[in-house]
Amino acid sequence: MSDKKTYDTRFGIEIEFCLITPSAEREDVYASMEGSMHARASLAVQLASKTDLPIAVKCEHLRHLEGMRCFNCYEAPVEVLIPNGRVYSQRRPETETETDDATMYRYNMIQSEYLFGTKGIDKHHRRRATEIASQIFDHDELEAGLPKMAQIVEALRTIDMPVVADEGCGLHIHVGPKSGMTLQYAQRVISLAIMLEYHLIDKFLPPSRKESKYSGLICNVSNVTKGKINYIMSRVGITTHWLLNNATEPNSRSKKHFPVPLNDNIKKIESFVHSIWRVDDWELLTCFISEGSIVAGIAIADREDESKKTIEFRYPQMNFLHSFMVLWASLAVKLGDIASLELDDFVKYSTALARALNEHAGKEDCWQHLLQALDLGHQIPEWTAQIARHDAGEAISMVDDRFFLKRPE
Ligand SMILES: [Zn+2]
Repeated sequence: MSDKKTYDTRFGIEIEFCLITPSAEREDVYASMEGSMHARASLAVQLASKTDLPIAVKCEHLRHLEGMRCFNCYEAPVEVLIPNGRVYSQRRPETETETDDATMYRYNMIQSEYLFGTKGIDKHHRRRATEIASQIFDHDELEAGLPKMAQIVEALRTIDMPVVADEGCGLHIHVGPKSGMTLQYAQRVISLAIMLEYHLIDKFLPPSRKESKYSGLICNVSNVTKGKINYIMSRVGITTHWLLNNATEPNSRSKKHFPVPLNDNIKKIESFVHSIWRVDDWELLTCFISEGSIVAGIAIADREDESKKTIEFRYPQMNFLHSFMVLWASLAVKLGDIASLELDDFVKYSTALARALNEHAGKEDCWQHLLQALDLGHQIPEWTAQIARHDAGEAISMVDDRFFLKRPE
């Protein structure tokens, strides 16, 4: 519908998994931190030798001790230190950066993560919950088929530590416009995702992911949909008067973006979409899409500089299958692309989605019509294959029956 050269969506991919290492003789908090950092450092050394990517490990300094170092950096020569991390690769980022934040996001950053789950351990082993946050990508990386992510996963399959991914691990995609995040962009992306939740995104999730409370559909778990209006009011100090005047009818901005009404049987989706446009600040928007401190399938990632905020798609389960990453990245980036269009072009997409929902909601193939409305109809065969894998019980591909990542044949 529009010239793709005008898109300036940037994105990053986070993959979550556990490194499995032998238990230390003592496993108190201190030893556990040290053991985890050693595991990540070992991963970094191996990824640096098996890929040609910039690889770093994020520091974990004790915040209350100014100038304190951590197991990552205390013996490191100064030339390998970057803000909040230590570089392990010869390869450095291709572009110079202006801020500390920007430097960090140009590395593939290995870091600790909180992950629930018990797969992969016995009394002799520990799970070291880990995340790799990719360097920032632009459209070229997606159009080339995510070759850098392919390198990382290929390398992970040959390292000398077992890797486990289970239902506690997610695959997250951050998107944002290079020209700078705005509240309107965020509202556009989130309301588009809401239109897709019941009839496309839900279809794309394996059963294990649907049970995760950290990635639920906004329409199912958010404060607004759970009627936790009192919570929102106390959190942001808004009044009953404000709510009565804002929460009953779609406002003009919302109607401008989503002019086609949805049928009565899917009116619920429409009211969720309109609720997103009732807010006019970041804090309230965050409140509307989360439940207390629990985040849903979309979160807003805070950055010191507001224009650098990103929208985080948290819906998918972790999966090492490359085509899976490409499919989800294509979907997230597409919503970002649409969100950055001029209003008239944006409305072409929102109208196409509304028509697809009105005509096909409730039918088995509704997701295919929604994909076509997004100009992603060419991916229907691959999604069909992915849904078949989920239906066959394969929630995470390329792991064995104990959830260990398989090595190449
Ligand atoms: Zn450190």
